[in-house]
Amino acid sequence: MLLRIALSKKPSKLTAITAAVALAIAPMPPALAQQNKGPPIIRDTEAEQVLRDYTRPILRAAGLEKQNIQVVILNESGFNAFVADGRRIFVNHGALMQSETPNQIIGVLAHETGHLAGGHLAKLREQLAQAQTQMIIAMLLGAGAMVAGTRGGNTNSGLANVGAAAVAGPQEMIRRTLISYQRQQEENADRAGVKFLTASGQSAKGMYETFKRFTNDSLFAARGTDPYLQSHPMPAQRVAALEELARSSPYWDKKDDPALQLRHDMVRAKISAFMERQDTVYRRYPLSNDSLPARYARAIATYLHGDLRSALGQIDGLIQVQPNNPYFYELRGQALLEGGKAAEAIAPLRKAVQLSNNAPLIEMLLGQALVGTDNTAHTDEAIAILRAAVGRETEAPLGYTQLAMAYGRKGDFAQADLASAQAAFLRGDNKTARELASRAKTRFAIGTPGWVKADDIVAAKPLPGQSSN
Ligand SMILES: [Zn+2]
Repeated sequence: MLLRIALSKKPSKLTAITAAVALAIAPMPPALAQQNKGPPIIRDTEAEQVLRDYTRPILRAAGLEKQNIQVVILNESGFNAFVADGRRIFVNHGALMQSETPNQIIGVLAHETGHLAGGHLAKLREQLAQAQTQMIIAMLLGAGAMVAGTRGGNTNSGLANVGAAAVAGPQEMIRRTLISYQRQQEENADRAGVKFLTASGQSAKGMYETFKRFTNDSLFAARGTDPYLQSHPMPAQRVAALEELARSSPYWDKKDDPALQLRHDMVRAKISAFMERQDTVYRRYPLSNDSLPARYARAIATYLHGDLRSALGQIDGLIQVQPNNPYFYELRGQALLEGGKAAEAIAPLRKAVQLSNNAPLIEMLLGQALVGTDNTAHTDEAIAILRAAVGRETEAPLGYTQLAMAYGRKGDFAQADLASAQAAFLRGDNKTARELASRAKTRFAIGTPGWVKADDIVAAKPLPGQSSN
């Protein structure tokens, strides 16, 4: 399952910080400028598992393994990766697509971990606060100059414009301040990243290869389209320093594990198939390409574009090659479910749940299939599975949406309203969440656990950046 869902609560902070930095040091990327809500994220068990496996050794080397740091995949095709809140590393799906080896994206993750370990976010906020003070002072000086100019009676002589120029000046000053600050942080993050890679027995070659691609004077940079470059100035000397450091590691020539490379390529194939235009998918993965990732991409593209029977045949072919790959069964179940065959989706999804050690996002899909059969015999099982899933995966609205339907089937409208309220809350729709939670409260006995949960939602304050109406 690959889901594109709108981020709910926390990322409003993220948008605020990145927007502030982008505004100060570079033209704001149009996507950010237009978005008031958090950017949409991609949820997929297979991709998230690969990213967890990529980050685990780095976080351990950085002493951050207990911080429960998550990698969040953003639904953006440009290359970007950043940290914004000390708890999450954000990676565009475009960064995964453009990383040909695990080692390349692992290098980027190591660099971002360097920012986390160095506490750079706190320092950046401080720096921004300082920049604002500087701006205020400069603006006051500019206003003073303007007043002086006007008082001299030379309003048309050009002197009056000194004020305007002085006001424009601070923007440039902030830009320079942030860039010089940032260069230092970037070099520190590079060094820390290489240290974490070496400590975990990995090469920093991929990090060097990726950053070299972004060198300021490269063709790639001249295009100026990738947000990573805007947040990561990449002067040649920085990349040269990185190369020297990376080459000094005993692991410089260490190759990626072939099994990991295959998982990497499978995730890229899946992202391409779900996110890119059909003709792009077939250009990347033409019929002449018989590799497993190419067959995976084509099977997904086939089901997405309506030919369920052909897709199922292709998926069965994949299962023959890797009979214990949970994601092939997940795909089979998802294709059947979305093709209106909920009952047939149950068996492959059960298998996917079992093979993935109860991955909650896959459990939610199984719950959806059980609820979707209209067979009330499945309802209690669906509720049990979905409750377990939402307990372990607290940010995906799908589990609550399906729980609401299951409770509705049983005529338990108090629980159904509460689950619908929780789903709306996770989608960031506070108005609907409050309405449903208020109704749920009238259906529960006062003080019962359901009433308390509903009351929490009614009382929840909208977070900054979230619509409060
Ligand atoms: Zn950086």
